[in-house]
Amino acid sequence: MTALAKLTTIRVGGEPKQLYFADTKDELIQFSKKVWQESENYLILGCGSNVVACDDMSSYQVVLIETKGIEVIGNRVKVQAGEIWGSFVDTANANGWAGIESLAGIPGTVGASPIQNIGAYGQEVSSVIRSVEFLDQELGEVIVLDNEFCEFGYRDSVFKRGRKGVVLTVEFEFGQADPEQLKAKSEEVIAQRRAKGMVLDRADHDTWSCGSFFMNPVVSESFARTLPLDAPQWEVADQVKLSAAWLIEQAGIPKGFSLPGSNASISSKHALAITNRGGATATEVVELARYIQETVANRFGITLVPEPNLVGFN
Ligand SMILES: Cc1cc2nc3c(=O)[nH]c(=O)nc-3n(C[C@H](O)[C@H](O)[C@H](O)COP(=O)(O)OP(=O)(O)OC[C@H]3O[C@@H](n4cnc5c(N)ncnc54)[C@H](O)[C@@H]3O)c2cc1C
Repeated sequence: MTALAKLTTIRVGGEPKQLYFADTKDELIQFSKKVWQESENYLILGCGSNVVACDDMSSYQVVLIETKGIEVIGNRVKVQAGEIWGSFVDTANANGWAGIESLAGIPGTVGASPIQNIGAYGQEVSSVIRSVEFLDQELGEVIVLDNEFCEFGYRDSVFKRGRKGVVLTVEFEFGQADPEQLKAKSEEVIAQRRAKGMVLDRADHDTWSCGSFFMNPVVSESFARTLPLDAPQWEVADQVKLSAAWLIEQAGIPKGFSLPGSNASISSKHALAITNRGGATATEVVELARYIQETVANRFGITLVPEPNLVGFN
């Protein structure tokens, strides 16, 4: 059986009890219903770029989404969940479909993109999603959720807040722009991402990660005023977003840091990424994450919230 270490970008996690490959939408529906029925211990998996699976996954059933297809319907584009996000950005750019060019270089599948409303360099996928076709676990049926019902927020959606199920397809509505300009923007973004170890590269351990491990915390204006004057801050509605990377470094945890004897370490290029230096266990990854949380909480009174889905941990 293939271990989760082989199916996730941070390369940790044990062998599951069962692994189902869903190549068609019908299979995805069938396998998802099956694993939901049989146990609480299941995982719906795309490219595994936002998942830390525990070392003992032997009670888990995993459904791997490999459905493919891109369909143009009038001014909309309907995409199967298993399409690879980066390739879809290339297709969008080539067709002059504007709105996701700055999201180039983000690993993962199209189906996972609404889950945490992927975002980077000033763009969020929610701005071009028209609707999501969703197998709702509670209802046991396929429904279509228009954008407003997805309740998108910063790295957030209704799917992260308890609406269980599986995204089958995503329907996009794009603006139009010059394909060459879109491509140039994507290339510029990828170059910036690569410098931070945020483009997957088998040979570079700094990219054996889940990307950013913590979300940038959003606090009240009055709390933000208690922080040092040089703390980076952005206003969002009547609150303030802080830089998690800045908080970590100012709490005294430098890039490249690891706990004694551990194979998990902070990226040498980016303070927000926890990486696997080779042979790390999921336990080591989570121990480092806890250490960072405690250190930042002690220094600033802020509890950093992990961005990836931690599977099988208490
Ligand atoms: C190097 C690197 C850089 C990154 N940079 C960014 C970035 O800039 N911005 C950003 O937002 N994210 C970033 N990420 C995080 C990650 O790429 C995204 O969250 C991506 O959308 C995850 O896709 P995936 O297919 O790998 O999802 P997985 O990791 O397989 O799954 C993630 C979660 O979504 C659920 N899920 C997956 N597919 C479905 C589906 N079809 N239906 C229901 N649930 C599903 C899973 O159960 C799991 O809870 C980065 C990750 C890495 C490794």
